[in-house]
Amino acid sequence: MIRVENLRKNFGEFRALDGVDMHVPKGSIYGLAGPNGAGKTTLLRHIMGIYRQDEGKVLVEGKLVYEQPDVKNRMIFISDDLFYFQQADTMEMKRFYKGIYPGFDEKLFEKLKEVFQNIDTKRRIRKLSKGMQKQVSFWLGLCCSPGILILDEPVDGLDPVMRRQIWNLLLSERKKRGMTVLVSSHNLRELEEVCDYVGIMHQGRIRMERSLQELQGTVSKIQTAFEQGVPVLPETFQVLHMSNLGRVYTMIVKGDSGKAREELEKLHPLFVDVLPLTLEEIFIYEMGGADYGIQEILL
Ligand code: ADP
Ligand code: MG
Repeated sequence: MIRVENLRKNFGEFRALDGVDMHVPKGSIYGLAGPNGAGKTTLLRHIMGIYRQDEGKVLVEGKLVYEQPDVKNRMIFISDDLFYFQQADTMEMKRFYKGIYPGFDEKLFEKLKEVFQNIDTKRRIRKLSKGMQKQVSFWLGLCCSPGILILDEPVDGLDPVMRRQIWNLLLSERKKRGMTVLVSSHNLRELEEVCDYVGIMHQGRIRMERSLQELQGTVSKIQTAFEQGVPVLPETFQVLHMSNLGRVYTMIVKGDSGKAREELEKLHPLFVDVLPLTLEEIFIYEMGGADYGIQEILL
């Protein structure tokens, strides 16, 4: 659906994108996580065909987005600086978008008035607070019924109730229409709850890209203790990390956790417990060997 290959971009001497590889499958919600300055906005602008890359490729539905701009009609980019006319209010912008996007969902627009009831639709958008402008962008963008929705930090600066509403709306619209969603955030925890895939970006590169379903089933934390000795698992399991406090060992194990438990029970332990891991922990352990402070990236 969206494929980025070896994308590079310099701003003067500064290397903002340093060989980005990324794949967003059709119909998925893909979370682009990374700290401020990682290059998320720059990457999204390349995917929208706003920037031209120095090197590499951006393919959307198999088309080179900068060179074949008609594919842009399938996409909506919701960012801090969504396009508005200077004087326009929400109703006027709605009419404008309706004229451009034949699939504009009038019913949905009406329905969402309830969610965004704090917004005075007759007031000039530029006069609204930053958070409200963000909500208007989201509201209008979603109603355009795009095949691909790209959102740059959509909930940054919004209150917790509104954040939840935005995520819920994304999930329900995706379910209803099967669109592809690419969403950035500097907060991995926020993405964890809504995404099918997560890419971790740091210093101009995607360091890791994973399906969450795959991840959450395959990495687990196991605690066990023995009268004496150290727990050992067959080689089919990858032990990402092991530590102990006295006789109690904590292992982070990649592989079927049920089978790992069976293997450990054969060794007659005092106990074996399989504990859930947060996405954050999984990334920290999986990227543990990398040459940069992963903790810094995620926290
Ligand atoms: P993020 O969205 O992850 O916070 P950005 O893509 O906005 O990161 O920025 C990545 C880096 O590129 C930052 O160091 C930023 O200062 C730099 N950068 C972004 N846009 C420009 C630009 N137009 N000119 C020069 N530097 C830029
Ligand atoms: Mg940004």
